[in-house]
Amino acid sequence: MNDTSPLVQIRDLSVTYKTRLGDTSAVDKVSFDIRHGEILGLVGESGCGKSTLGKALLRMIMPPGRISAGQILFNGEDILTFDDKRLRDYRGRQASMIFQDPMTSLNPVQTVEQHLVEAIQVHEAQTQTPDATGRIKTLLERLGIMQSRLASYPHQLSGGMRQRVMIGLGLVLNAGLIIADEATTSLDVIVEAKLVDQLREIRDEFGVSILAITHNIALVAEMADRVAVMYAGNLVELGEVSRIFDRPLHPYTQGLLASVPTTEINERKELYKMPGEPPNLARPPSGCRFHPRCPAAMSICSRHRPGLNEAAPGHWVHCWLYQDHPEKEEKTLKVAA
Ligand code: SF4
Repeated sequence: MNDTSPLVQIRDLSVTYKTRLGDTSAVDKVSFDIRHGEILGLVGESGCGKSTLGKALLRMIMPPGRISAGQILFNGEDILTFDDKRLRDYRGRQASMIFQDPMTSLNPVQTVEQHLVEAIQVHEAQTQTPDATGRIKTLLERLGIMQSRLASYPHQLSGGMRQRVMIGLGLVLNAGLIIADEATTSLDVIVEAKLVDQLREIRDEFGVSILAITHNIALVAEMADRVAVMYAGNLVELGEVSRIFDRPLHPYTQGLLASVPTTEINERKELYKMPGEPPNLARPPSGCRFHPRCPAAMSICSRHRPGLNEAAPGHWVHCWLYQDHPEKEEKTLKVAA
């Protein structure tokens, strides 16, 4: 079973980009934990800030962006205070990231073996190549990659195998956190299903925590233990996967789930289409950022931002419907009905 203590604690994290229209808050005061050994799915529409948040966890936000406020504690240490040397050590030894297209991260003129040996020796200069190669062989076996693939170049591998090499680059140094940013999106459904199974096996075997960033909420149901839902730079809901899928509370989560195709669809039940468009984050709506699209919006929603409230044990929601306030009205949510 998972250790439920947090490996990562994100506190009031904000990431701001300078644009022609002024400062744009791509991530706005987001707080949540990633527990030891869990798979946490981070979902939301394109542009909701989920990938920006993933990059912030490795301090990979490039100008004109910056982490403008908050803390990211990794095993209790604030990574925002790390100097360059400590940061290099953190990236790789403690946390690593895999992207949608591993070809952009792998060096096309290096073999699998060269990639992995280099990853070890950059962080452990004293490790001799034969020792590093020995470690790699054991790891590749556990990842289901044949040793004959050590001499292969990235273009000679399948998409799924390239992703497994990327995962290996994190695991070879015993990283505690893997951030998978749309890592299965470019794969066909069969390879995707295999990689999802493998990510769960890797979590079980290595005890690693995985932050799975995806726009595909159905995928999260298959692979994650908990799910965090983001909308327009805000965290709107967080909880166990079974709980969120059975009883979504936030109107945005309800809309997302109601828009997922299921095998039960017939002519009389059409997929829900969320009204409106995501907001321009340079000029976000006042109060709750979802209020212009929300079928349950109340007058308070456009004026005051709700706090994050624990509506049930471990189930957090960012919505006035679940908090007391002077103007509370009775609302029946019919979005997902
Ligand atoms: Fe809708 Fe108001 Fe809840 Fe925002 S706070 S999701 S506008 S009901």
